[in-house]
Amino acid sequence: MARDPRYDILFEPVKIGPKTAKNRFYQVPHCNGMGHLYPNGMAAMRGIKAEGGWAVVCTEECEIHPSSDYTPVTEMRLWDDGDMPVHQRVVDNIHAHGALAGTELVHNSHDSPNRFSREVPLSPSHQICIYNDPIQARAMDKEDIRNFRRWHRDAALRAKKIGYDIIYLYVAHNITMLTYFLSRRYNDRTDEYGGSFENRLRLLRETLEETKDAVGDTCAIAVRFAVDELMGEKGITHDGEGRAVIEALAELPDLWDVNIAGWENDSATARFSEEGYQEEFISFVKQVTSKPVVGVGRYTSPDRMVSLVEKGVLDFIGAARPSIADPFLPKKVEEGRLEDIRECIGCNICVSCDFLGHPLRCTQNPTMGEEYRRGWHPENIAAKGSDARVLVVGAGPAGLEATHALGKRGYDVMLAEATRDLGGRVTLESRLPGMAEYARVRDYRVQQIERLTNVEVFRESKMTLENVLESGAGHVVIATGARWRRDGVGRQHTSPIPGSDLAQLFTPDDIMAGRLPEGPVLLYDDDHYYMTSVIAERLCAEGLEVIFVTPAADVANWTHNTMEQPRIQARLIELGVEIRTAHNLIAIEDSAALLSCVYTGQETRRDCAAIVSVTARLPNDALYLALAADARALDAAGISTLKVIGDACAPAAIVHAVYAGHRYARELDEPEPEGVPFKRERVALAPLP
Ligand code: ADP
Ligand code: SF4
Repeated sequence: MARDPRYDILFEPVKIGPKTAKNRFYQVPHCNGMGHLYPNGMAAMRGIKAEGGWAVVCTEECEIHPSSDYTPVTEMRLWDDGDMPVHQRVVDNIHAHGALAGTELVHNSHDSPNRFSREVPLSPSHQICIYNDPIQARAMDKEDIRNFRRWHRDAALRAKKIGYDIIYLYVAHNITMLTYFLSRRYNDRTDEYGGSFENRLRLLRETLEETKDAVGDTCAIAVRFAVDELMGEKGITHDGEGRAVIEALAELPDLWDVNIAGWENDSATARFSEEGYQEEFISFVKQVTSKPVVGVGRYTSPDRMVSLVEKGVLDFIGAARPSIADPFLPKKVEEGRLEDIRECIGCNICVSCDFLGHPLRCTQNPTMGEEYRRGWHPENIAAKGSDARVLVVGAGPAGLEATHALGKRGYDVMLAEATRDLGGRVTLESRLPGMAEYARVRDYRVQQIERLTNVEVFRESKMTLENVLESGAGHVVIATGARWRRDGVGRQHTSPIPGSDLAQLFTPDDIMAGRLPEGPVLLYDDDHYYMTSVIAERLCAEGLEVIFVTPAADVANWTHNTMEQPRIQARLIELGVEIRTAHNLIAIEDSAALLSCVYTGQETRRDCAAIVSVTARLPNDALYLALAADARALDAAGISTLKVIGDACAPAAIVHAVYAGHRYARELDEPEPEGVPFKRERVALAPLP
């Protein structure tokens, strides 16, 4: 298919200093939990992005010195020459597909407690380390400042030698040395590096000039700068010092990569922000500089991208998450295949991987992080291994992804869904407040499946054992999902909560089915992800009084990993929800709940008309178990394999269900791998001294 000429502007080459980007699609630096520890995984993932058409592919932040050590978070490093081969692999993979490679040099100042290197952290002023480690950074003296500049220059020279095309100075996300020097909050120096705006800007200006001087002949120099910290006068604002920084340094870098700080604002989730949410803050930048500008905002709509360029807001469409959800987004626009774009849902599961220190995963893209270790490509999949028909039971994320990937392999697939609607939990959850974009998990797959002539979809087809045996399928995969427990069993309770059989107990399934309680309603959250909080919002919208009880220290505790927790708590407070932390629900009475403090065991009674219990789920595995128990019947029916996947196997998040569906499809009719089913990256043992 040919590209729609409307999008031609997105494929214009753009000069960045001494380099030229082949189009306007720009993968900005993003963490991925792989970095220097899983270099092949990281290099393969970046290479796939380049193959997918991004003109610029950057690595994640790159520490320039052992005094900037983010352990256990895994980023890139250029502490010395020994770190260069890892980068070389990444750069080669990016260049192999004609993209420019960028690296984001960083010193994390008092943001890095140096847990591995044990160096004393450095900061413009005496500062306690972020992350609650009992460690402080010491205020840098003049020699420290000279050292910092030298480390930065040395790292830039190494980056140039490796072959990077774009070298960044990192002044964003409310972290990094250059940010802290600029910041009135973190810089209380009284010398020429503190006090006035010009003084606070000095280190950035010097480092920028020195980087240009060192490598600017052949490398483009980019500044990633947060123009607004969203904290008003206490911080940098886009109409105050944010603008002043760009005005002061306007033509010095070859590219401005602008955003808002901190990271939770830059990578805001769909629950709290819409596509293009940064535009109001960054749109001034191009009026102040003639240099190209890149910005992000979870852009997935090519029309929106065109309008950003035409309006003069951006020269490059920056993307981290949209490039993770669909590494081939630019190629798809170029080839006129817009309906094939797998749009990011803004869930930040990708972000959680960085916090939790493991390789990147994505709800929408099950191949993300698996490019090297399993050899999975986001667009290519092996042809079918047999002519057997496959029956997929259940059209939730697991069943839909299995159907989609099996269909692409060329299998004849029958997808049977009990209800009228496809999408399973995603369809139900996407109707809850702030969750609409989650429906993209369904929409992308349904759209793809509809175009596959070898896939038949049967709605309102609740499958029984007999139906499955009569289906004529050679392979059967059960993806019938899960239901929320009605007995309160979960992390806190290993046996049912007394009174959980009373009629006033509701579960998220009731709420999603439209069976709403009377107020006041007490929500018991032993799940700690988003569900209880969105139900709280839903019930508040009905005008019900809501009490949120959790054994954790705050609401939706796991969402710290998606950077949503503070916003969720704020929203519930604003909605007037009564929040009771560090408490367990221990019994349900006729018109009250018995609670106990998790520390002291002290009991209190809270009057309420209903309780919504959000603890654990149970798989809907009755059909699978019945089939699995009758091997002879399966054999007689010609069913050679029977599998259960997704929530019907073990309930988990949507990302796990999509992955399970994809993995099933990849592995069908393939030989069972021996031992560990993926490649590992092992540490090479150095010879003993
Ligand atoms: P997952 O997250 O594992 O994909 P979901 O709960 O989202 O699970 O989806 C499961 C889907 O399976 C739901 O749409 C449900 O209606 C469907 N389903 C459950 N039992 C049957 C059955 N016996 N026959 C067909 N579909 C079923
Ligand atoms: Fe987008 Fe979620 Fe994938 Fe991250 S994990 S890229 S937010 S869909």
